[in-house]
Amino acid sequence: MTPWWSAASIRVRLTAWYALVLSLMLAVYATATFVAVRHEFFEQFDDQLHDDFETAEGFLTSAGDGRVVWSGDRRHDPDNDEDRGSDVWLASGEPVYRSGASASLPPVALAATTAQRRYESIVADGHPWRTLTGTSLVGGRAVVLRVSRSETHLRTQLWEVLVVLVLGLPVVVVLAGVGGFALARRALTPIDHLASEARRITAERLHERLSVPNQHDEIGRLAAVINDTFARLESSFDQLRRFTADASHELRTPLSVIRGIGEAGLGETRTPAEYKEAMGSMLEEVDRLTNLVDTLLRLSHGDAGTVRLSRSAIDLGQLTRDVVSSLGILAEERNQRVTVDAADGIAVTADRLVLREAITNVVDNAIKYSPRASAIDIRVDADGHQVDLTVADAGPGIAADDRERIFDRFFRLDEARSRENGGAGLGLAIAKWAVEVNGGHISVENGAAGGSVFRIVLPISTPPIASDHERATQRMGVHV
Ligand code: ADP
Repeated sequence: MTPWWSAASIRVRLTAWYALVLSLMLAVYATATFVAVRHEFFEQFDDQLHDDFETAEGFLTSAGDGRVVWSGDRRHDPDNDEDRGSDVWLASGEPVYRSGASASLPPVALAATTAQRRYESIVADGHPWRTLTGTSLVGGRAVVLRVSRSETHLRTQLWEVLVVLVLGLPVVVVLAGVGGFALARRALTPIDHLASEARRITAERLHERLSVPNQHDEIGRLAAVINDTFARLESSFDQLRRFTADASHELRTPLSVIRGIGEAGLGETRTPAEYKEAMGSMLEEVDRLTNLVDTLLRLSHGDAGTVRLSRSAIDLGQLTRDVVSSLGILAEERNQRVTVDAADGIAVTADRLVLREAITNVVDNAIKYSPRASAIDIRVDADGHQVDLTVADAGPGIAADDRERIFDRFFRLDEARSRENGGAGLGLAIAKWAVEVNGGHISVENGAAGGSVFRIVLPISTPPIASDHERATQRMGVHV
């Protein structure tokens, strides 16, 4: 079950947290204030007691016969003040004077009385008193003097302070909570607004964007991030639509050819040789279809990230020579010369089959799109961090505007010529995926002497290359 605070809106949770933190802070503040006020009150009270003690000492005089007498005047006589009292004893314990107000207080424990003055709080008959006790010399005789003041008034004042603090705290918290709630609502309203705007933007209206009132504040930055996401979604949707349209178009062409051959074959009676030829042509188109579907499947697995790679250290020069020798027959047919300039032992860590496919597609294109009897130069170079594989041909080259787009799916510069060569515009898309999935980058530029130069850059591999035997026993391949 979801706890209520998770189900509550952000503004309620914000307000609750705000009120809680404020209450804790106010409680600490109120406690500290009360302790300080109480300390200050008692300090002042003790100062008054101290003054009382000095006054009372002045009232003690020595009579001619050596007696100690209390000579307090009416104005200062604590007898007239029921909140104050003075008591005097001789050192022997004999009382000299006891005021009426403090009569309920127990006598001083004379044995425990020292020259040091002592403050004490005493409760007598349920009534709180504060006392100051000390000794004094009157005419050479030691006396014990205690002055006292009722704490009732002081305690009432402290109680009033406490009531104000305790009652004021919830009032302040409630007022602050209401203010905090209003502020949170004000601050969060733009988010509700963003949400309702975002809800309006469906797959069909992906070109629309959220309004950004102030792009520098948090809400503005959030709206900008959401707008970026919409822009990426829109471009992905566009790509997907184009891809679906292109794929359907590519699939339809061989299907129409197969249908055409079939209809022509059924239209009239033909010789067995003619039927055989028709079936051969149909199978060729079926092969074309199968290749296309295989390639599309591989690309979609690549997109979904479900291709399992088996990486190992590979001698890139060796791999390039393997590719060139397997494509040699095509170059020979066109009377082209393919040279590979690569030092041994330049290693990259990659999936051999995937990387091989990338190199094959690039070299195959160089052969397909270069004129007959031209030269194709392949080089493998390494610097400290990366390996460069370049394939330079003597073909038509690629205009600057098309250099990014030729790696897009189904993109062909010369559709008729590419189709005639058996291409569907997917070879470089596969090559790009294959290089990037191995941590590299593929690009194209025009060669100094014309033609195009395809460049595959891969991170260099530092561990030694596996021996042929190890390589043969390694599990390699693309699992789709
Ligand atoms: P295709 O299967 O049609 O060759 P690719 O994806 O391999 O598809 O290439 C895309 C397009 O890029 C090709 O149709 C072609 O127009 C252009 N292209 C590729 N390689 C070269 C090259 N070496 N020289 C000139 N154009 C090239």
